[in-house]
Amino acid sequence: MLQNYDTIIIGAGIAGAAIAHALAKQHQKVLVLDKNGIASGGSGAAGAFVSPKIGKGSPLQTLTNEAFLFAKDFYLSTCPELFHQTGVIRIPKNEEDAKKFQDYEAFNLPKYETYTPQILHDLGIKASFQSFYFPDAGDCDAPQVCTHLLKEIEVVNYAVNTICKEDAFWVVGEYKAKNIVLATGHESNLLDLRYMGIRGTWGTRGDFGSRLDLRVSMHQSLSVGANRDGVIKLGATHEKMVKEMIPCSDEQALGLKHKASALVDTSDFELLQSYCGMRAGSKDYFPLVGRVIDTAYMLEQYPDIVRGAKAPLKHIENLYILNGLGGRGFVFAPLMAKWLAELIVEGKAVDARADPDRLFLKWARKLKPSA
Ligand SMILES: Cc1cc2nc3c(=O)[nH]c(=O)nc-3n(C[C@H](O)[C@H](O)[C@H](O)COP(=O)(O)OP(=O)(O)OC[C@H]3O[C@@H](n4cnc5c(N)ncnc54)[C@H](O)[C@@H]3O)c2cc1C
Repeated sequence: MLQNYDTIIIGAGIAGAAIAHALAKQHQKVLVLDKNGIASGGSGAAGAFVSPKIGKGSPLQTLTNEAFLFAKDFYLSTCPELFHQTGVIRIPKNEEDAKKFQDYEAFNLPKYETYTPQILHDLGIKASFQSFYFPDAGDCDAPQVCTHLLKEIEVVNYAVNTICKEDAFWVVGEYKAKNIVLATGHESNLLDLRYMGIRGTWGTRGDFGSRLDLRVSMHQSLSVGANRDGVIKLGATHEKMVKEMIPCSDEQALGLKHKASALVDTSDFELLQSYCGMRAGSKDYFPLVGRVIDTAYMLEQYPDIVRGAKAPLKHIENLYILNGLGGRGFVFAPLMAKWLAELIVEGKAVDARADPDRLFLKWARKLKPSA
């Protein structure tokens, strides 16, 4: 006998945990499968800073900041003890960046302050550029947040190799469900998802023991957390050349300490633990939330799409994705999960900015027409 669920979610990172939580709140019977357990992918490595995006008002900035406002309220109401509103300072990297900050100011979320070099100095920060301080921002205890969101949900350690459909139900090993959600992060090999352009970017985090009196978090070319219970988190995810998972090395975390020394006094920093992992981004850096297109069907039925022809999109029934959260998984996940749950439960269309449909025809146009 197969065990029956409304929805099976593959992946127990922040994406899988957030959608599981949102669906369970809608009274769905949910099962989460993860090959290595809760927060064993990028989500376990994340510094999990939750802060707004700065810039010149791009659509991605606008969406990120909508997600930020939603996320901070979500964490404050759902697990306030796991979200630390230390405030986050955004510091320009150099003179050139400092000039750009002047243009960014008009597009900041309303709740921010400008910090002069003197204020930074008084806080123990060595930067000499005018910076932005966002008091509502902070960071999460990443694995604990995932565990908390999944606390009333069945989670099984299970490596999914294939998913198949039998009589309108998805079957995964001994489990079956009406719906499947793929929340597998940078690993996207269960189906043909090429059009979404999911790719990993490698990152490292180091937790350092320190007595430094640092009460606020900051981002520059890396993130530096406030000192909480004698621990300061350093993190950065910029490494595009690493394609496969590699073992974490203390050397990488110590490299972060070296970088951080340009910002704060790291002289008593002692490495307690190194973390590393992949964060998954999409082709256009926007999240991937919604239905999955049946690529094989589309290419067979509408071969002219590779020459730019338009065609109605056909989705794989009851198959959904929540991925592409990039370097801001903890910012995006709560709002994206809300949107996906509304699609799954109520049939409400996902905001077009996050819907992966946006990428399909453009991707198909770049395929070589077969002879
Ligand atoms: C070093 C580092 C620092 C970061 N800092 C921040 C930050 O400060 N703020 C922020 O918001 N974000 C940060 N991020 C990004 C954030 O971690 C990601 O956006 C987030 O982890 C994405 O979550 P996810 O659930 O999509 O993927 P993941 O957390 O990678 O989860 C995917 C899960 O799917 C499972 N899985 C995959 N395939 C299968 C399969 N076939 N069967 C079963 N299970 C499967 C994996 O085991 C994994 O647990 C950081 C990332 C890293 C690496």
